Amino acid sequence: MNCEVCGRPIVGRPIRIMVERAILTVCPHCAHMGTPVKVAPPPRPKPRRVAVKSLPKNFEVPELVDNYPDLIRSARERWGFSREELAQKVGEKESVIRRLEQGAMEPTLELARKLERVLKISLIIQPKSLEPSSASSSVLPPLTLGDVVVIREKRERHG
Ligand SMILES: [Zn+2]
Repeated sequence: MNCEVCGRPIVGRPIRIMVERAILTVCPHCAHMGTPVKVAPPPRPKPRRVAVKSLPKNFEVPELVDNYPDLIRSARERWGFSREELAQKVGEKESVIRRLEQGAMEPTLELARKLERVLKISLIIQPKSLEPSSASSSVLPPLTLGDVVVIREKRERHG
């Protein structure tokens, strides 16, 4: 690189100066010809402000439905259970059931699961990340080879 004032090769660090609104790269000898220009460091990319969730999506916690008080009460009445009967079935006190139905208290996940089983209702919103296939396969065991053979024999007999 040559000095833009004297044209000589710049030895050492080139200096940028402002001369009559023009920025020149000059050698140290010509630096006094103008106003030194501070070379601004390249602007740093601003750190992105990403909302960091405390839990990764795979570990979303199951949520309670909003209208659980109504669901519990209406389901209990549909089954003809008194609060005390329902309380006994899920191993809780009657006062717990009353507070649940009033919305004064949220059931624990464990209690909600018991209520779901006893009342045949859904209180827990399953996280979307859970695959539906895993839920169904846990309820029904996969067909064994023997089952398949039996089914085939039935079909052949009837068809
Ligand atoms: Zn020079």
